[in-house]
Amino acid sequence: MATALLTIDLDAIAANWRALDSMTAPECQTGAVVKADSYGLGATKVAHALARAGARRFFVAAAEEGAEVRRALGSGPQICVFSGHMAGDTALIRDFDLTPMLNSIEQLTRHFEALGNHPFGIQLDTGMNRLGLEQAEWEAVAPMAIEAGAELLMSHLACSDEPDHPMNDHQLRAFRAMTDGTGIPRSLSATGGLLLGPDYHFELTRPGIGLYGGRPFDAARPVVRLSLPVVQLREVEVGETVGYSNSWTAEHTSTIATVAAGYADGLHRTLSGKATLWAGRVPCPLVGRVSMDLITVDVSHLPEVPETLDILGPHQTPDDLADIAGTIGYEILTSLGRRYQRRYGALSA
Ligand SMILES: *Cc1c(COP(=O)(O)O)cnc(C)c1O
Repeated sequence: MATALLTIDLDAIAANWRALDSMTAPECQTGAVVKADSYGLGATKVAHALARAGARRFFVAAAEEGAEVRRALGSGPQICVFSGHMAGDTALIRDFDLTPMLNSIEQLTRHFEALGNHPFGIQLDTGMNRLGLEQAEWEAVAPMAIEAGAELLMSHLACSDEPDHPMNDHQLRAFRAMTDGTGIPRSLSATGGLLLGPDYHFELTRPGIGLYGGRPFDAARPVVRLSLPVVQLREVEVGETVGYSNSWTAEHTSTIATVAAGYADGLHRTLSGKATLWAGRVPCPLVGRVSMDLITVDVSHLPEVPETLDILGPHQTPDDLADIAGTIGYEILTSLGRRYQRRYGALSA
């Protein structure tokens, strides 16, 4: 077997959702963001597990993703689409009962013309300048949108992973100013905002990364283990080099394991010479360059080399690996390779 095994713990994802849910008042609903194939972990399986845990409202980025989640969940749970109602989305929105989060006057017009009585929410821009109506636009259409039955008003925080950042309070005030008194349910916070406390909760939160074990939800249970098969072992003598561009030179007689995964599987090339793999609890340094399908690991210190080495697991989370690669845990997760064999179950010790 020359493909890696990715283990995804659905019970841990459900536990993380429950833990985040318990941090808000009982009347505050906790949604679940399952965009990008549930951050690379499998939209169908993850949405099922979260629905069993009690989630009733799911968020995706695009209508096509919403259709997949609807097929998985059947009717009942609400599925909201961050990109709103794009040209060409009308049939998907109608047929799969999706709720578009409309984000421009153009989208509002499109939605009312195409699907007059179909539920919708509205995205407001409170300073991130990415998606949503700006204050003046909102003021112009608010009476009409409220009359038409907007069922959610939402915005998104730009700096919620930094609790002391003044942008958080700035956006909170802007959101309140735009939505106070409308009587429509409101949502401002993803994982980071949820952790900022009750002022940020409103009627609904929208955690994503926290469900999948990522920062800033430090109390999250680990969700993934990635075990890479050792395909070859070799001894190298002092002065011999390993990998492309001879980028590692043995200073002692060393045992090098060639392991089957590379940058085509989402192990970023910036991990070259820097990452750590794990034989159980024993760290083993990645040496030389990450190539497309293979990496090389110094296992000289192991009394016995196991059949697989872990690059993600309880000892090294996606955030830890991201720190080494110079990126964020979100990117590590959503880059996880399609070649991995996926298994849903507990992460064994
Ligand atoms: C991705 C996303 C979320 C979830 O964010 P996390 O940081 O993963 O919790 C929530 N809301 C919007 C608008 C998003 O794009």
